[in-house]
This record gives sequence, C-alpha cells and structure tokens, in this order.
Amino acid sequence: MSKILLAHGGGGREMHELLRELFSIVRKTKVGNEIGLDESDDGASLTINGRIVISTDSYTVSPIFFPGGNIGKLAAAGSINDVAVMGAEPIAALDGLIVEEGLPLAELKEIIKSLVTTFEAENVALIAGDFKVMPRGKIDKIVINTTVIGTVKDHIITDSGAKPGDKVIVSGTIGEHGATILALQIGIDAEKENLKSDCEPITRIMRIAKEIAKIHAAKDPTRGGLAMTLNEIAEKSGVRIDVDEEYIPIRENVRALCEMLGVDPLWLACEGRVVLVVSGDVAEDVVDSLRSAGYKDASIIGEVRKGKPYVVLKTLSGGLRLLEKPTGEIVPRIC
Ligand code: MG
Repeated sequence: MSKILLAHGGGGREMHELLRELFSIVRKTKVGNEIGLDESDDGASLTINGRIVISTDSYTVSPIFFPGGNIGKLAAAGSINDVAVMGAEPIAALDGLIVEEGLPLAELKEIIKSLVTTFEAENVALIAGDFKVMPRGKIDKIVINTTVIGTVKDHIITDSGAKPGDKVIVSGTIGEHGATILALQIGIDAEKENLKSDCEPITRIMRIAKEIAKIHAAKDPTRGGLAMTLNEIAEKSGVRIDVDEEYIPIRENVRALCEMLGVDPLWLACEGRVVLVVSGDVAEDVVDSLRSAGYKDASIIGEVRKGKPYVVLKTLSGGLRLLEKPTGEIVPRIC
C-alpha cells in the first residue's frame, strides 16, 4: 500500500491500521495523565486552572511542499502562533486531516512528521484528531485543520491595546512565506532564487519580549501581510500608526520578486514573524534582546500616534502615503 485509498477513511480495518501507523509518529499524545490520542476514545480531556486561549485554522496551502516547510509544519506553527501572540503558552493541539484518495502515503507521513515535530519542539501535546479521505478530484491533495489551546499566565494580549507614544516592532524580515508560495504558484524555481518560507513558531520571540516589556498589542502578519496587520491594530486600537519604509526589513530577493511581479511586499504573508507594540521607552530594549537572541533583523519600524485609525507610510523617497488594507486575492491558498 503506497497510496491513500477511500477505504482508509472508511472507519474500518484499513483505517485503523493506517491510523495506528500514523499515531506511532506522535510521541506527546496527552497532557499529564489526561485522556489523549493514545486512547483513541471519542474525545480527549484536559484539566485547566485559569484562563485559556484557543484558536483554530484550516490550511489549504498550494503547493503542499515548499522551501522552508510543508503544509504540516505550517498547520502546527500557524495555530501555535495565533495562541502565542495573544500572550498564551500553547499546551495542546487537535488536528483534522482531509486527504485526497491517491495521495502517496510517503507524502502523508512526511507531512504528519513535520506537524508532530513542530508541536513536540514546543512541548505541545497532540491530544486528538480526525482523519477523512475524499474521492480523487474532490479535494486537492490535503487540507489540515488545527486547533491549539494555550494557558494564560499573566494577561491576554489583544490587537486593541496600542497607545499613542508606543513603538511598533517587527521581529524579522517580512513577506518570505508569501513570496515563496507566490513564486512556486507561477512556476518560478523558489529554491534557485533562494526564497524560503519563514514558517515557524514565534513562541520564543513572545517569551523574550514579554520578559522585557508589557506588550500592548501583538499580531502575526499572516494573510494580508504587514499592511493588513498594521491596519487592524490601528483600527481596533483607535490610533494612527506611522511606519518608515526605510526600517522595514525585507530580503533583497523578496524585494526583487515583488518588483518583477508588481506586488507590494507589505501585502505578503509571513508565517514566523510578529508585530509587537510596546511603550516607547522599552522598545529599544526589546529589539536589542531579540537581536542578541538571534532575531537579527528585529526592528522598530514606526510609532503609534493620536489620530484617525490610518496607517501612514513614509516611503524610501521621503514621501508619505496611506498604507491601505490589501484587496482582492493577493496570493490564493497562501496558508
Ligand atoms: Mg493571527
């Protein structure tokens, strides 16, 4: 058996054999003595004292393998990040896999291995899951849903806490995930162009930043890129945000691809970066700590002001322009 068959989703013996094989990849299947994936019961259990943050997302990225990761790594990191940017520590995850009949088993295993490895590296238990098979042509290869649960130690960080006088920090170069997927979708050899997705958990960045400063707002600039994230923070916080293009870190090859295709790099998704809004007097310290921890492109890119909820970009040529929310389908199936 080297390909997924409809029978693998049928709930019978074939499914049980396949799932046993796939389960063997997962090592952290429960939190403490709770009921987890091992039990194959109807659900998992958790005992939680205090507040939790929970987030769910479905991943449909095309292609499913790309430089820097695959749909499995993305599905784990993406939902971990949504919980982490809210100030929580991810502890447990659930996944739902919908697979197209005919997907090579080796590919499925590689995807699950990436998903599991990413969760394990973050000490996140994969406590429950679901597996379905769809007939050939009814779905494109694989769709993964992940739900991540995190516990809140101090306070929840939202998109709405930015205050005038705050500074805006980005944790690294932007647009790499979006540029990589965009390149692959239009037939450019991303690897040859040295394009690589930035897909990875941002939990460590959050921990470092939280230790130095009270974070007023945080968000991972995924779909819609930095432009969308800044607009959301400005709108929800009721503030104006001024950013300086000169300080926004963008890799040369991402910039070149964007210029060639007429795409704004500020619209392209990141999958391993965070936008942090902190008080002006601690912003330098946060950036210094991130840089010395290896996030060498972390930068202060702008500041929060009193005013209408606009994002104003000071361009490289010195002019000012409104940085608007992206419209239309920038890159389909980016995540
Ligand atoms: Mg998010």
